[in-house]
Amino acid sequence: MRETFDVVVVGAGVAGLSAGWSLATSTGADVLIVERKKEVGDLVRCGEFIPSFTQIRKLMPKAKSIGRFYETFLKNSVCNTIKKIRIFSPRNKEYEFQFDGLVLRRDIFERNIAAEIERAGITLLTKTTAKIVSNKKDTEQVKIALQNQKTSKIVKAKLVVCADGFPIKSGRTNFGAKIKLEDVALCIQQTVESATVDDDAVELYFGKKYAPGGYAWVIPKGNGRANVGVGIRLSFLKQGRYSAIDYMDFFINKHPVSSRYLSSAYLRSLTAKTLWVGGLLPNVHWNRVLLAGDAAGTLIPVNGSGIPTALISGYLAGETASQFLKGNCKLSTYAITLRREIGDIIKRGYLYRRLGDAFIKSDTVFEKVLHIIGKHTLAKVVKCEPISPMFD
Ligand SMILES: Cc1cc2nc3c(=O)[nH]c(=O)nc-3n(C[C@H](O)[C@H](O)[C@H](O)COP(=O)(O)OP(=O)(O)OC[C@H]3O[C@@H](n4cnc5c(N)ncnc54)[C@H](O)[C@@H]3O)c2cc1C
Repeated sequence: MRETFDVVVVGAGVAGLSAGWSLATSTGADVLIVERKKEVGDLVRCGEFIPSFTQIRKLMPKAKSIGRFYETFLKNSVCNTIKKIRIFSPRNKEYEFQFDGLVLRRDIFERNIAAEIERAGITLLTKTTAKIVSNKKDTEQVKIALQNQKTSKIVKAKLVVCADGFPIKSGRTNFGAKIKLEDVALCIQQTVESATVDDDAVELYFGKKYAPGGYAWVIPKGNGRANVGVGIRLSFLKQGRYSAIDYMDFFINKHPVSSRYLSSAYLRSLTAKTLWVGGLLPNVHWNRVLLAGDAAGTLIPVNGSGIPTALISGYLAGETASQFLKGNCKLSTYAITLRREIGDIIKRGYLYRRLGDAFIKSDTVFEKVLHIIGKHTLAKVVKCEPISPMFD
């Protein structure tokens, strides 16, 4: 394998693949994508739920690239369509609203993008872990250590797109951002089979007994299959007596609503992952490294939606890299375009999450707040739409 590249992309999740696709379509640059998994799309740790394209256009009107992903890669990777979101309050009062969404086979979706990238001549190296070993100020090259089971070597690149999720493992931890426990959620998820779920509705359950500081979800995949999970904030978990797995068990087997249809379902393997719910990092570029996707903090903090924003940020990182290599822009352009396209929705999501934090500590208070704000405002908060011009 060669030792120098124009761009090295670390991580072939949705953000890294999106950066790769953008680079493949806009330059003749030498690009290497490094992924530590055995194959792209392996070990999906995600609810796989995304808004329909009509919803996305409404939610992120300034995001230019996202439509291309819907047009090009969704074909055979949608396993269910969603028509509504149903929310259960801590005392199990139901709030339901219309929402057009899609449930992905994310493994297929990612492999579709990977195949297109490889067709364009970009090298995708799997089973390899990358670590940035040198990215000094005013440097012209970043050094990256690549390690697989048999060998290790150093490669050099003019630029690196760091798309390795949260927490960033390839470089300095979160590139200097301060990590507070309240900004980190621990998510546990299990795919269930043979459950009598409502295939039209994504269900979200609130309440301290089942998901302190977060919510539990049931995302139907069709034919009795569903992604079932709980997301708990680390700051809440620290104070409690139970582990995240205990909460998952309570949700499946003891919750008065969900246990009725989940306790007898067949449970498949359990996955766990931490997520950053603290909003965009203050610095999304660091000398010659651009951060994309969860590594940059693009997940929407109030609802945990991270796929569309990761795709958008990856694409923008790839575009900026390609323009930078042609001498047409500075790398700081990335931060500007990223904030222009998705900055508002992430900032609003963070603000809503912080507002919610004031009430979510007490089930009684939260129940009352839900009652007062009612279904329409709740729907806006969950979708992360502005609830008044103040939040626009
Ligand atoms: C349980 C759970 C449920 C979720 N549900 C939803 C949902 O329903 N809808 C939604 O929109 N979002 C959801 N999200 C969030 C969404 O999954 C993320 O926001 C999204 O995956 C971010 O994409 P990414 O490419 O930035 O990071 P990732 O998907 O984490 O990809 C990072 C990639 O980098 C690789 N990698 C890491 N370190 C290295 C290294 N050093 N060298 C090489 N490769 C490396 C990893 O193997 C991985 O493939 C969920 C998240 C979780 C945990």
